[in-house]
Amino acid sequence: MIRPSERAMGVEYAIRDVVLPARELEKKGIKVIRLNIGDPGKYDFQPPEHMQEAYCRAIKEGHNYYGPSEGLPEMREAVVQREKRKNGVDITPDDVRVTTAVTEALQLIFGGLLDPGDNILVPSPSYPPYTGLVKFYGGIPNEYDTIEENGWQPDIDDMRKRINERTKAIAVINPNNPTGALYEKKTVKAILDLAGEYDLPVISDEIYDLMTYEGKHVSPGSLTKDVPVIVMNGLSKVYFATGWRLGYFYYVDPEDKLSEVREAIDKLMRIRICPSTPAQFAAIAGLTGPMDYLEEYMKKLRERRDYIYKRLTEIPGVSTQKPQGAFYIFPRIEERSKWKSDKEFVLDVLHEAHVLFVHGSGFGRAGEWHFRIVFLPPVEILEEAMSRFEEFMRKRLS
Ligand code: PLP
Repeated sequence: MIRPSERAMGVEYAIRDVVLPARELEKKGIKVIRLNIGDPGKYDFQPPEHMQEAYCRAIKEGHNYYGPSEGLPEMREAVVQREKRKNGVDITPDDVRVTTAVTEALQLIFGGLLDPGDNILVPSPSYPPYTGLVKFYGGIPNEYDTIEENGWQPDIDDMRKRINERTKAIAVINPNNPTGALYEKKTVKAILDLAGEYDLPVISDEIYDLMTYEGKHVSPGSLTKDVPVIVMNGLSKVYFATGWRLGYFYYVDPEDKLSEVREAIDKLMRIRICPSTPAQFAAIAGLTGPMDYLEEYMKKLRERRDYIYKRLTEIPGVSTQKPQGAFYIFPRIEERSKWKSDKEFVLDVLHEAHVLFVHGSGFGRAGEWHFRIVFLPPVEILEEAMSRFEEFMRKRLS
């Protein structure tokens, strides 16, 4: 037997891990309602027409070659325009890097920052690749608390306590996956102040930036005066093109503190050649084109968010915060005596009610005794899922 690397074997991704037992049930002909993966394209959401046309046109017109490692100049300019409009940031195309979606941006940034034993402050709970990829690059995910009763806002005092001499950056996911939290402006400011005090850069994941229900997203990139901020975004959520695998990141670095890190990341970018060329043409159309489709999509999402929130508040044994952004809700299991863990709970729901959630502990320490539900499907599907879940809970708690 040839031994695999420990580094790779240590990687876990809870969102897809729970699919295996669901598949077993489906093999037996059981219909499982899957509410585990945040992919709008699996439901009634598609990228807008003008992006689809631009993608097809790029292929037909012969844009099927390798592009520059840092991205096409036109794409980098389109990012500058979009980000000036959204965040008022003063950047140039030279500050922008195009990637194979935010996932690759994370790999490049962590790869460019981390030596073994370094740590990055990541929210708890958080989207699993933050902990998984930090570990893969030899780092330690340093999970800071978020305050559930306060809509899962980051706990700045806890962040401060966790900073040590090996801390390399503070990561912020806002709006948040899995909690749906939208951070208040004063919280974003407090994070910047803390980062400034300890001379740390902020890494800001803004993939859900225009997907908010109450209030608007505030980027640390728009508020910083001296703290370096690396902002990541892409086509997967707000542009509904998960499968196109395209994203970008940019540096807001008024005092040029990241110049060496930029060089390191650029080296990594060159050895992976380039992001998809035709997808960048689609992205240019999306980033510079009309956004009216989003209004209609957000109307649907709001209706689904309101529905699932209402149903969950009526189900015994669970409680929940109301998500302010993204398309996830993260209820808390209040009645714990019947299960050994949140994973056992989620598997029990799967086997009994045939509804697939993701166990909260898969999102880190603070996710324990919670579970994540994706509310992308139409209300009829959510209604069936919630009715099955409600029956399950009433039976278990009787
Ligand atoms: N960042 C967050 C917070 C996410 O929730 C997701 C996907 O669910 C991603 C990044 C992945 O984005 P991409 O498809 O651009 O790799």
